[in-house]
Amino acid sequence: MRNICVLGSTGSIGVNTLDVVRRHPNLFSIKALTANSNVQLLAKQCAEFKPKLAVVGSELAARQLEEELALANLKVAVLFGPQALIAASTSEDVDTVMAAIVGAAGLMPTIEAARAGKRILLANKEALVMSGDLFMQAIKQGQAELLPIDSEHNAIYQSLPDANISNGGARGIYEQHGVKEILLTASGGPFRNKSLAELAMVTPDQACAHPNWVMGRKISVDSATMMNKGLEVIEAHYLFGVSPANIKVVIHPQSVIHSMVRYIDGSVIAQLGQPDMRTPIAYGLAWPNRIEAGVQELDFLAMKDLSFEAASFEQFPCVKLAYQALDAGGIMPCTLNAANEVAVQGFLNGTHQFTKISEIVERVLNQVEVIKADSLETVLFADTQARNLAQQVIEGF
Ligand code: NAD
Ligand code: MG
Repeated sequence: MRNICVLGSTGSIGVNTLDVVRRHPNLFSIKALTANSNVQLLAKQCAEFKPKLAVVGSELAARQLEEELALANLKVAVLFGPQALIAASTSEDVDTVMAAIVGAAGLMPTIEAARAGKRILLANKEALVMSGDLFMQAIKQGQAELLPIDSEHNAIYQSLPDANISNGGARGIYEQHGVKEILLTASGGPFRNKSLAELAMVTPDQACAHPNWVMGRKISVDSATMMNKGLEVIEAHYLFGVSPANIKVVIHPQSVIHSMVRYIDGSVIAQLGQPDMRTPIAYGLAWPNRIEAGVQELDFLAMKDLSFEAASFEQFPCVKLAYQALDAGGIMPCTLNAANEVAVQGFLNGTHQFTKISEIVERVLNQVEVIKADSLETVLFADTQARNLAQQVIEGF
């Protein structure tokens, strides 16, 4: 029996996680659920899964949740705020943490869970992008297990030799085992065929209408700018210790091949499946076993074709910016991520155009001096610094 904390249980990944858990009551027990503000859904989830602890973002949301739980006669402890997220993810009752909060807010509860030696199912790529080496060190120090949930990284994990990354992303170990490169597939998002002029005019709802995946709004915009793929290049580098030059992005619009590993002997190993996050979630929950996930089977006979294209840095400058930030190292990936979070929020709020997102990120990167990211304090400083700079860029438009 695995005892689970879901950080971000009301989001797209959180809801899919609970759907897999629901299918296996003999294997999984939910001990803690957290959400920012969706009290209604969290209360429903508490009624179904009966956790010991529920955490929300504010005192007001906590009072509302307590009222809902009292009406339903449920005994669930309710806490709120950033420290309470850490209490949930490091609780002695919990051995497995689904890290599915979106953005930098997920960093502290996830890294603390790593230090506490939990099994971490990592959906929240921003946490790893921000703190790279520190995050992987925390996994090693805490003797935690790290399983990637991001579909591409889960595919790579399944395609690597003797998949075990809990050694802290040891540099070059996969290259020593004959891995030549990682081929990170990308759908290209909803705007793959749009001109630069058309891109300037797209709306938040168009950006969030992904052709293959249903996801939260922030990652949907990241998919449309392809910053998502940029963040995933950085994520792959830290997870697998493969050098950036050996991580290639390939556009594959059908999202059937979730990523591939090329070996020096000419073999390429890929993982295929429906674009349904319950597959990687079930893999992480049950690892090293396999369980039923409620996912429709791939029907090869109904598949028309699988196609591949090069990713254009001109159309998707965010991918190039991510490689640059990774090459620069230190706090630059954290800076990229924070500037992007502010830029995406601005676009979703209608403050600026879609094409300004990459411009904001680029201008922030150009203003920041590279320093080592050798402590969490430095990472949090870099995050705040980049947010302030991004805000200034937006105010100057
Ligand atoms: P979402 O917006 O649907 O859900 C986010 C969750 O985080 C919600 O439960 C929300 O309450 C919580 N949250 C938001 N801000 C918070 C804060 N400040 N403090 C505490 N909790 C907060 O997002 P999602 O699509 O489920 O994505 C979650 C993470 O998983 C992201 O990092 C995303 O990049 C990653 N991911 C998602 C998918 C997908 O298919 N949705 C695929 C791969 C990776
Ligand atoms: Mg992904």
